[in-house]
Amino acid sequence: MKDVVQLITDGEQNLVVLSAMSGTTNSLIEISDYLYKQNLEGALTCINKLQDKYLGHIAELYSTEEYKSLTTKIVCDIFDRIRSCAKTDFTSREERIIVAQGEMLSTNMVTNYLLEQGHNVQLLPALEFMRTNEDGEPDQKYIQEQLLKQLALYPNKDIYITQGFICLNYKGEIDNLQRGGSDYTASLVGGALCASEIQIWTDIDGMHNNDPRFVENTTPVSHLHFDEAAELAYFGAKILHPTCIQPAQYANIPVRLLNTMDPTAPGTTISNITEHRKIKAVAAKDNIIAINITSTRMLL
Ligand code: ASP
Ligand code: MG
Repeated sequence: MKDVVQLITDGEQNLVVLSAMSGTTNSLIEISDYLYKQNLEGALTCINKLQDKYLGHIAELYSTEEYKSLTTKIVCDIFDRIRSCAKTDFTSREERIIVAQGEMLSTNMVTNYLLEQGHNVQLLPALEFMRTNEDGEPDQKYIQEQLLKQLALYPNKDIYITQGFICLNYKGEIDNLQRGGSDYTASLVGGALCASEIQIWTDIDGMHNNDPRFVENTTPVSHLHFDEAAELAYFGAKILHPTCIQPAQYANIPVRLLNTMDPTAPGTTISNITEHRKIKAVAAKDNIIAINITSTRMLL
């Protein structure tokens, strides 16, 4: 979180979409699995363990008693909300509430850390503007309208923080944009605001010219067209799901893939610009069977 704060306080006005901390969403899913199986004890053990982990993070992150106790209160309330879902008639409704709490934790913690450091920051609740329609697809018109309304409530902030991944569905229930959905949130939000650029920070330095799982000494590709990026994603580049960046492509906003472990590395920029006659990457797909059918009688 300390490193993330370095990245987002670069003097630009940024809207920052945060995912949950590493491992948290998986733990929340594990808790839900216990509850589906009516294993309340297993769930509570898991919840307490995760809560202790977060209390440890609070002790390390903040330097003042004020922010330690303020954040402890928020974090404990979030864990109480998780516990309140631990009941015998556990359904997907409760699961979705539990799974949403990872982003609630991360965004509140980072916002409070920024405040403690004296930054001009505002937390925007994603549930106020992220919504999916009856088909489960993001309602882009609603997202844009509501997001602009939220921003108008807090003008002149240097940094806005919001939750990735989570949303309300058309019934008004808490839902999410599927695993890894924070990239999708970022692309939707960037598109809605006509941002100058969308940056996706992961722990690798962009899309590579070969699959690093099979080929040694691969290098990141500095520039890709949206279609090329989609093609590489299809061939297994797990860094990005192609539908996630569709809103950015439609809004013609470049997407940069950057590496938190090496923030000065150029990464990969994905845009609508094509570099003709240039091979960007080589990829292969295994276990493909081609079936060629010939009929002797071509009737019908
Ligand atoms: N926290 C969510 C997940 O683990 C969303 C994301 O990481 O983008 O799937
Ligand atoms: Mg994630």
